[in-house]
Parts: sequence; structure tokens; C-alpha cells
Amino acid sequence: MTDLLDPVSPDRAESFLTDHFQGVLVRPGDRSYDEVRAVWNGMHDRKPELIARCTGAADVSVALRYAVAAGRAVTVRGGGHNVAGTAVSDGSVMIDLSLMNRVDVDAGALTARAQGGCLLRDVDSATLAHGLACPAGVVSHTGLGGLALGGGYGWLARKWGLTCDHIVAAEVVLADGSIVEATEDDHAELLWGLRGSGGNLGVVTRFTLRLRPVGPVHHRTGVFPLADAAAALALYREFAERQGPDLHAVATLKIAGQQDWIPERLRGTPALFLTATWFGESAEGPEHTAPLFATAAPDAVLTRLLSFAELQALGDHGEPHGNRYYTKSCYLTDLTEGPVGQLLDATREIASPLSAIDFEYLRGAIGDVPDEDSAFPRRDAPYICTVSAQWTDPAEDAGHRAWSRRGVERLAEWHFGGAYVNYLQDEQPGKVAEVYGSARYARLAALKRRYDPENVLSGNQNISPAAP
Ligand code: FAD
Repeated sequence: MTDLLDPVSPDRAESFLTDHFQGVLVRPGDRSYDEVRAVWNGMHDRKPELIARCTGAADVSVALRYAVAAGRAVTVRGGGHNVAGTAVSDGSVMIDLSLMNRVDVDAGALTARAQGGCLLRDVDSATLAHGLACPAGVVSHTGLGGLALGGGYGWLARKWGLTCDHIVAAEVVLADGSIVEATEDDHAELLWGLRGSGGNLGVVTRFTLRLRPVGPVHHRTGVFPLADAAAALALYREFAERQGPDLHAVATLKIAGQQDWIPERLRGTPALFLTATWFGESAEGPEHTAPLFATAAPDAVLTRLLSFAELQALGDHGEPHGNRYYTKSCYLTDLTEGPVGQLLDATREIASPLSAIDFEYLRGAIGDVPDEDSAFPRRDAPYICTVSAQWTDPAEDAGHRAWSRRGVERLAEWHFGGAYVNYLQDEQPGKVAEVYGSARYARLAALKRRYDPENVLSGNQNISPAAP
């Protein structure tokens, strides 16, 4: 039997794989192939040569060593949600972590050990049984792996920070197949890099996550016709920027849906939705969220007390698997009349009832983490904005893509710089370096040279080991 740490020769690649891999191997022609290769964004209909459905770190190690020996490119699939579809590519080996979704909670230590293929809902369902959660994203079918490694904005970011700030340790399979545990004491520089650099440095097979106490949340949404949106957004800006970390306020511009609480005259028209969520004592919520709607009155308001699990699933139905998506995103310096005017113009041009422009004031605990403590850049960005096109007909691809691109371009005067790595899509060369800035990118490139010098893990927003 081949020692798992010996190099594998190309002529032994296939037998090495079949002798050592414990999970499920799926190839073109197999019954489950089309289902397993599909990712969330229906734009990416790509056909890997092999899908290695791993059961643990040892399988990931075997799959990586097989791919290198066979001369195949590698992609890593966590939840399959990346808008650029980086989890899958033609002719490659997809390391599929989706069977690895076990979560063990240590409520006393306020930590959870979550396997690298967990969805956010897998983590929540284990931790919420103890009244605990790890701050993460706003759609529960997103993968923990990609989200946490790239940063992780969500409901609790202003209160507790990003998901990557909650990575205490990680079990990582390196590009050469070796398995290490990155902690503050061992491979500490690798742990620094895992907090924000995406999947560049290794395949994380298990995260150890810090947990926070959570309870029911007070949640208030108001809807405004587009004609009133400028005034409402002026108030949003003033309100959001003076809040403490317990209050999270989000704005969305989109075509109003058919929900009962939305006035009939607004349904099917472009509208502004403002949401304020209170994470302090829920009984105090109403007094803290009401001022957002005090002077610019919405046409209708929906006020709810939600369990944390309900909050986490609020966004689940709006962005289903298999539709076509194209997202552009930027950080904004401000939300003054200039950018608001541009956002409203972009809203008037929305061509799909499924598309949306989201923006929110960040700050809070995100910026409490010292800048040098993690690979995640631009913690001081005031606002993040995403212009997300969603549609179903492939014949409409060009128009929706152009709308999304133009939506962010028209805000250029107010761009803060950089970008959120998890929202990048078909960017110009050099964008990843721009995201991290030169000093941080150089530090990450040095890590890449140490942990993945051959750039085996290149199916991502890639950090080149060749960079100075
Ligand atoms: P995948 O497509 O499976 O993986 C993306 C990349 O991550 C892979 O190419 C790989 O390089 C890497 N990767 C994944 N898992 C691992 C692992 N275990 N080890 C090593 N590398 C790995 N982001 C936010 O910050 N906040 C949000 O609220 C939010 N909401 C979203 C909602 C929707 C509907 C969608 C589609 C995306 C959202 N995102 C959000 C963006 C999200 O962070 C990225 O799409 C992220 O890449 C998703 O991770 P994934 O594991 O599902 O993706």
C-alpha cells in the first residue's frame, strides 16, 4: 500500500485514488453527475472531470494528491454559492465538501467545531439549541467555508464582527496533502491568512468557531414608493450612522412583491425597503427602530419579533438555486445625495422583478478588530453596496449583466476603494491585489509560497505565489 505521504506518480494516480478514497467518486455519465456539479448560480454550467465527494480530511488529502499526480486543475466546493462559480470548472477535479456538514458544540467553551462543507443553517441548527450562534451571512443555504474564509458580513457583524473574526482554529489540508491544525500557537500565520484570504491557502476541513449568545430579535421593515426614497434615504443615513452595535439597518431598492403587507398600489413597482433590526433586549427594540421611520413615513410597515433562526432564514427564498445571477459590489464612502441619486436612477432601470440593489452601513465591531490582526482588508469601509441582477432566461444575460455593471460604475465617484472578495465576479486582472492592498497582498503571497507554492488551489480569487 502506498504511504499517503509519499509523492504519487502520474501512472499510479488512478489506483492511488481508488485504493485510498473513502467517499463517493462521481464522473461524467454517472446518474448524480448533473445534480452534484450544479452550483447555486445557474450561469455556470461547467463539467468537471471528477467530483470527489469527501467524507473527511483524509479524503481531501487523497483527492488533492490525485489531482496533482494526474495533472488536473482543482476546485473546492463548500456551499456552491460563490456568484463567480469558483467551486466548479471544466475538466477539473472538484473537491466536494458538501457531505462534510457535522457540527459539534461545546456550549461551555462557547465554541463549535464545524466541518468545512457546512451550510450556515447546519451551524445554526446545532448552535441555536444552546442559544448560541456564530455571526455569519443572511441566507442560510450559503456555505460556511467560502463565506468565513472570505470574511462574512451578516446580521451580527456590527455587534460581534465578521465570521472570519470568529475562526479560533482550523484543520487544513494543504496543497501537498498534509494535514495541519492552524491555531494561535501553531501555524499562526496561516490562521491569520485564513481570516479573509478566501480558499487560497488550503482546504479547511474543520473550523473551530467562537460563538455568541443570541435570542429573539425585533425586526421592522418599511416600504416607500420610489418618489419618497430620496427623503427616506437621507434619514436612513443620519439614523444608521449614529447607532450603536445593537442596531443594524439595511436598505434595498427593488420591485415590490405581492406580499400581503405591501400596499396594492406599490406591488410590481420600484420601491425602497428599509429594515432596522435590534439585537439588544427585544422588549427595547420598538423604541430603537421607530426613529428610522419617524419623519419620512413609509407607506406600510411590518414589525415582527423573530427567533434568531427565523431571522437567519429571512433571505432564503429570494435567491433560489439555479436562477441566473450577476452581482457587482463596491464599498461607498458616503450615502449623500450624489450616490443616492445614482442608486435611484439604477432602480428605475431594473429590468427584472428578481433583481435588487442592497446597501448598508457597516462599521461597529467590524472595525474593532485591529487591521493587522487578520487578512481581511478595508474594515473601515463605511457602506457596502451590491447591485445584484437575477433572472431566468439565458437570452436576457447581456442586458442584466450590463445593468449590474453599470449600477456600480455609476457610483465610481463615491467608491471607497478595494472590494469584498466574496462578491468579485469577472474582474480585471489585478483586482485581487487591489482588494488586499500592496502590503497585505505581499504578506498573503508569501503565505501562498509557503503553503501552496505550485498554486494548486487556484480555483478562487487567486493570490499568486509569484507576487513580490
Ligand atoms: P463555494 O462556491 O462552494 O466556494 C467558493 C470558494 O470558496 C471556493 O472556490 C473555494 O475557493 C472556497 N472554499 C469554500 N469552502 C472552502 C473550504 N472549506 N476550504 C477552502 N476553501 C473553500 N457573503 C457575506 O459575507 N454575507 C452574506 O450575507 C452573504 N449572503 C449571500 C447570499 C447568497 C444568496 C449568496 C449566493 C452569496 C452570499 N454571500 C454572502 C457571498 C458568499 O460569502 C460567497 O458566495 C461565498 O463564496 C460562499 O461560500 P460557499 O462555500 O457557499 O461557496
